[in-house]
Amino acid sequence: MRANPAVIICEPDEKPARILIVEDDGVTRRVVRRALQYAGYLVAEAADGVAGLDLVQTFQPDIVLLDICMPRMDGFEMCAAVRRLPRCDHIPVVMFTGLEDPHSISRAFEAGATTFVTKPIDTLNLTHRLRYIVRSKQLGDTLRERESQLARAQRIAKLGYWTWDATSRTATLSNGIREVFGLAHTCDALSFAAFLRLVHPDDRLAVKNTIKCGIEAGRPVSFEYRIIGDDGSRRVIFQDNEIVDDERGEARLIGICQDVTERRDAENRIQHLAYFDVLTGLPNRALFKDLLERTLAEASRHGRLAALLLLDIDHFKRINDTLGYEGGDRMLLEIAERLAASLRAGDLVCRDDVDLSGCSLSEFVSPSLSRPGGDEFVILLNDIRRPEDAAKAAQRAAAALNAVFGIDGHEVSITASIGISVYPVDGKTPDHLLRSAEAAMYDAKEQGRNSYKFFTTTLNERARKRFTLENALRRAIDRDEFKLVYQPQIDLAARRVTGVEALLRLQTAELGFVSPADFIPVAEETGLILPIGDWVLNEAARQAVAWQAAGLPKLRMAINVSPAQFRQRGFASHIAAILDRAGVDKRQVELELTESVLIDNTSACAETLNELAELGVMIAIDDFGTGYSSLNYLRRFPLSALKIDRSFVSDICDDADDAAIVKAVIALAHNLRLRVVAEGVETMAQLAFLLSRGCEEAQGFLFSRPVDPNALAEWLPKVPIALPRWPQRAGIED
Ligand code: C2E
Ligand code: MG
Ligand code: MG
Repeated sequence: MRANPAVIICEPDEKPARILIVEDDGVTRRVVRRALQYAGYLVAEAADGVAGLDLVQTFQPDIVLLDICMPRMDGFEMCAAVRRLPRCDHIPVVMFTGLEDPHSISRAFEAGATTFVTKPIDTLNLTHRLRYIVRSKQLGDTLRERESQLARAQRIAKLGYWTWDATSRTATLSNGIREVFGLAHTCDALSFAAFLRLVHPDDRLAVKNTIKCGIEAGRPVSFEYRIIGDDGSRRVIFQDNEIVDDERGEARLIGICQDVTERRDAENRIQHLAYFDVLTGLPNRALFKDLLERTLAEASRHGRLAALLLLDIDHFKRINDTLGYEGGDRMLLEIAERLAASLRAGDLVCRDDVDLSGCSLSEFVSPSLSRPGGDEFVILLNDIRRPEDAAKAAQRAAAALNAVFGIDGHEVSITASIGISVYPVDGKTPDHLLRSAEAAMYDAKEQGRNSYKFFTTTLNERARKRFTLENALRRAIDRDEFKLVYQPQIDLAARRVTGVEALLRLQTAELGFVSPADFIPVAEETGLILPIGDWVLNEAARQAVAWQAAGLPKLRMAINVSPAQFRQRGFASHIAAILDRAGVDKRQVELELTESVLIDNTSACAETLNELAELGVMIAIDDFGTGYSSLNYLRRFPLSALKIDRSFVSDICDDADDAAIVKAVIALAHNLRLRVVAEGVETMAQLAFLLSRGCEEAQGFLFSRPVDPNALAEWLPKVPIALPRWPQRAGIED
């Protein structure tokens, strides 16, 4: 059909729009159809609502022209029915209404009509109006298509957006954002508080601050946070906030949110694969190198010692040959587990003198285990006090591998060779330290495997000595290798002996005489000081009673007590029991404590001191001036004496600083009404100085070395003649 040139509406290359006319009046139908066909439309027609509704589905019109009054189904009914059909809610419906019929017009709109034309129909006018309706429908279709494409893309990208409404103080949400946050479909707005409740508690503050900063600076911000779903599921959200001008030129906060959980999980998996050994889950070579670098940097910053233990399983190839690679893998896995457990159990190995009550272990040492490859494991100790600590960790690791392994019904025994290098002695850089540990490990292999070796030979020697000493200490009580010697304490004015200090001696067949300066620290670190300290207390109490029984004067018995002993629960009653059992007068006993005991200043410490004072036991502060000098405790605790450390006394005649310290300590003691005892007095010059400052008591080689009980019993009756002669106190110099 040829179109009337006067009313051509379709562009030549345009697809003709499809118009459905539903009109029971045949004449009107025909007139309208002709006009539309002339204008280039594709037209279908129906004489009532029921037939019209069928055609809507089969003909798929772009526009429906609908009469109101029709048999079977009127126009209102049909219009409403069209709207209910799938994907038909946007088809423009043009209703034919009477000229002066406002009621019908409003009913038509209620039923879902798009617009209306009045009867009688002006066909020319109608074709023109349809042209615009078609255009706007096509525009609407395109928009809807784009919108659904966008929504699809956002769904695929797990993306959504929101806009902040300053008036309602809520964010208006897109469909996508509901899915991102796992919100109900009915939820179309969210307050800031409700949003924050979705955010992981640990991330809330950061999220709040970032958003606030972005708004204040007027700048876009991007950030990531975690949200927790109602079901406890965790998601990672990437958010981008921006301030834009809306249609009215007002600033408005908008944002997009994207669920990046999968991406982050994948990144984490990749990261894990890159840095962790797949078989054991331990740090691999790359991460180990990184850990080593960081450990050494930390150690250098804090002036710490660190150690690297390189552990290689002896003859691992044999295991692979017998059990196959799978068996070998299972073996490596169990080795890793045992080593990790040995480190956990040995966390305190390097710092066993530290009181850990109330502290997390990680504050001290956090040994780390890595598997750089094959049958090689590395233990990194980031903070050790001395190289021997590393040897202890090596011993533990070796012991962990001692027990037989059960793999696939086979019983397998293994040993390891361990090379130890210590930072900074054996290398200051990671590579250097690693090379040293490797060399030490090969050394251990050469020396018959199943052993550990330090890179530095002197360290091997030191470690060996320490373990010999530790073993000797463990056996010394049973073997009766300890004894006490006694050093008199002299009242300088009266020239008489007021007390003795019990000093411990160790002599073993293997080691000969060992100085307390060497064995007391080891006893303290191993905890052996507790049984040893008890032995000392018992023995000193027994000796005091024995001397009195032998008719000697009643002397004060000073006994050294280690911090670990003092901190034992029920220490005071423990002391009371020992002294009662020995039958010694408690007022005769003085316990020598170091300043470090009092410094922790806990209520438990004060309680123990008060309990001891109640027993009548005296407390002296030993080595005074060498500890931390919080003088506060001197006033608060029930003390009886201060002992000036030997290091100050030895130099009082030559060193003005030491002289000043001694002078100050004596004055301090007097002010606090404490007895003051100078230790290590060796010369008359030192004695003269002390006398001139009013020091009332002293002990030292000048009067007597520490001697055994019999020698003391023989010497005592000879005092004061046996003492050197010194002038009586002349007067105190300033
Ligand atoms: P301390 O309690 O300060 O003991 C004094 C130390 O100085 C003793 O060393 C003693 O022999 C030494 N000495 C005394 N007069 C002189 C002198 O004129 N010149 C010199 N050069 N030295 C003198 P010793 O017996 O070697 O004991 C060392 C440290 O070992 C003691 O220092 C004490 O802290 C500890 N110790 C000794 N016996 C025990 C004990 O039974 N238990 C505990 N926990 N520690 C003890
Ligand atoms: Mg002492
Ligand atoms: Mg001392």
